[in-house]
Amino acid sequence: MGSARRGTNLDRVGGFNDAVVLDAIRRTEQLSRVELAEATGLSGQAISNITRRLLGAGLVREAGRQRSNGLGKPRTLLEALISGIAASIEDVIAEAVPARDRVVGVGIAAPGPIDVERGVVVDPPNLAAWHLVPLRHELRERTGLPVLLDKDVTAAASAEKWAGGPNGRGSFVFFYLGTGIGAGLVIGDEVVRGSSSNVGEIGHVIVDPDGPLCYCGRRGCVGETSQPRYLVQQAVDAGVLAPGIDLDDRHAVDAAFARLCLVASEAPGEARGIVEALAERVAKVVEDIANLLDLERVVFGGPHWAQLAPFFGDAVQSALEERFLVRSVHSFEVAGTALGADVGAIGAASLVLDQTFSPNPSVLVGER
Ligand SMILES: [Zn+2]
Repeated sequence: MGSARRGTNLDRVGGFNDAVVLDAIRRTEQLSRVELAEATGLSGQAISNITRRLLGAGLVREAGRQRSNGLGKPRTLLEALISGIAASIEDVIAEAVPARDRVVGVGIAAPGPIDVERGVVVDPPNLAAWHLVPLRHELRERTGLPVLLDKDVTAAASAEKWAGGPNGRGSFVFFYLGTGIGAGLVIGDEVVRGSSSNVGEIGHVIVDPDGPLCYCGRRGCVGETSQPRYLVQQAVDAGVLAPGIDLDDRHAVDAAFARLCLVASEAPGEARGIVEALAERVAKVVEDIANLLDLERVVFGGPHWAQLAPFFGDAVQSALEERFLVRSVHSFEVAGTALGADVGAIGAASLVLDQTFSPNPSVLVGER
């Protein structure tokens, strides 16, 4: 958006909020709608309405391209990505649903943190270009369907509740093992979201005070010490893997990580030690969550679960058998998701079910 024209009477615009928005644009010359919402404290919907009025009155104009903050990547790149997501949604509908009007809505499972009120993906640590992206609104505009947004780990927990069989009953933590780690919570058969739907940020629990430096500035966070690149580096240092792996190359790291897990499964030794030490670090976090919330189960899942499952089950189970404080009252169970690698996507779909059919209306805010 450009600067305001001179000499236009503000009375024509009407409303204090309109003047506030206009002032914010005037001060910075160019702001996205999301940035405007941030700057003014107004809702995304209010900003949409006000900017439509301001555009209609010729007081501001729309800029063709917007830079994403600080990173220098044009937002048009993201728009191409979002268009791709919308096209995939249409493909799935065309393939799977006989009549489009039978589709209740679209669920999105996004890495946190999210701003669920505004439907915005805020700043996920592993997706540098995704800064304050109003994904819910963008997909609503493109598909014309109601859209719900939730955190990926909460979606996974929701999937387990809806489709996970016995694993999904009662009170449990869904522990997600992927590029990042996180926890989704179900307590008393209800998905727990916290005050802003950002429950489960466990990545910075310190499990190894002498461990590697995390981007948060501290050492030995469970998220950082669960990263495949860290484990691969450990394996190289221990002589399990050959040196020369490019740790910035995601595919190279994934391949090396798979190799580490394979070697670990073949015989006891350094490789197994590395993976079992990871299981022990994760067990410490599970133990704290389980004791804090009096849970009955941990359900592991996420992209790395299949590779780690052979080492985790027994290690976490035996750790919890020693350290779960109410074990004399009830047992604590360690399980893996039965829903496979698609658990996040199934969770996204179950958000729509949860919203539409659950007897307890959830706090999700949809874009209709
Ligand atoms: Zn950290």
